[in-house]
Amino acid sequence: TKKIRIGICGYGNLGHGVELAVNRAEDMELVGIFSRRDLPGTASGVPAINLKHVLEYKDKIDVMILCGGSATDLIDQGPELAQHFVTVDSFDTHPRIPEHFANMDAITKANNTAAIISVGWDPGLFSLMRVLGDSVLPEGKSYTFWGKGVSQGHSDAIRRIPGVKNGKQYTIPKEEYLEAVRSGKGTDAPGNEMHLRECFVVPEEGADLQAIETAIKTMPNYFVGYETTVHFISEDEFAKNHSGIPHGGFVFRNGKTDDTTSHVMEFSLKLDSNPQFTSSVLTAFARAMYRLHFEQGKSGAFTVLDIPFALLSPKAPADLRKFML
Ligand code: NDP
Repeated sequence: TKKIRIGICGYGNLGHGVELAVNRAEDMELVGIFSRRDLPGTASGVPAINLKHVLEYKDKIDVMILCGGSATDLIDQGPELAQHFVTVDSFDTHPRIPEHFANMDAITKANNTAAIISVGWDPGLFSLMRVLGDSVLPEGKSYTFWGKGVSQGHSDAIRRIPGVKNGKQYTIPKEEYLEAVRSGKGTDAPGNEMHLRECFVVPEEGADLQAIETAIKTMPNYFVGYETTVHFISEDEFAKNHSGIPHGGFVFRNGKTDDTTSHVMEFSLKLDSNPQFTSSVLTAFARAMYRLHFEQGKSGAFTVLDIPFALLSPKAPADLRKFML
């Protein structure tokens, strides 16, 4: 049978992760990796192609997986590429999701293509679990905890402080709140109170450590309002213990079905590599989009909430029903 022909746009962490996932998927073929840069090559040896040649691949690619950054890339590259390709992206600037959806919906409907936006784990799998919890236990409360994991945004913010050579920030759920929610007791604490921010900093030689610590703890939007700890470490220790990009978290729904009967739903992720896991989610949804558009004739913009689970799997429906036995 025909393989789903995939293109990757953007060769950063996600681009590398999608390359791994697609090359391991038996029903997919990776046609090429597109970049705004002239790449010397790719990890798996598939062609590296400058993005300016992308339209030459219009009939050679079924689904284009967009791996650009949410801050500036996807909001432009999404509408641009969705005119010509079925696209999948991981747009995660939460407040701008309605705007991105509206743009992509208009473009895909006008061009008879299809796009799924904000695929990943949050937004993504966590969103699915929130909707499931809210639907099954309408009388209740949902909670999300993030971590333990690396926040790229907060790590970047630390690295911009004068005197900082390298830095990484871990977001960590506080055990007492996790337990309160897991036990069904719940909490009214706001999100910032339920998490710790732990920073590991490699200072430049002779840097003023106290000044760096103060700059971190008083940084508005990033650290103010959070319990934050700062550890100064050597470059060797950083390389040894803090080179990965782990992440994860928990989604809970605590609810009641009558005055005295309560329930706890819990979904959790513990990821060695945030980008590799996110890329695996993108790849499964690329398969669903292929089927939705090319086999079922659907166009327009979608989110993970619109996709039947069976479309994510390469297995036949009868084989999937074995998971119910
Ligand atoms: P990167 O910063 O690694 O890559 C983003 C883009 O930057 C790439 O597509 C690439 O574009 C360019 N780039 C990468 N490396 C270099 C380099 N060395 N020099 C110059 N340009 C470079 O971001 P990630 O792949 O880690 O993440 C992408 C987005 O995915 C994030 O912005 C985040 O919002 C989202 N995400 C979503 C998740 C979810 O759960 N929904 C989870 C994790 C991430 P080009 O090749 O064209 O130059």
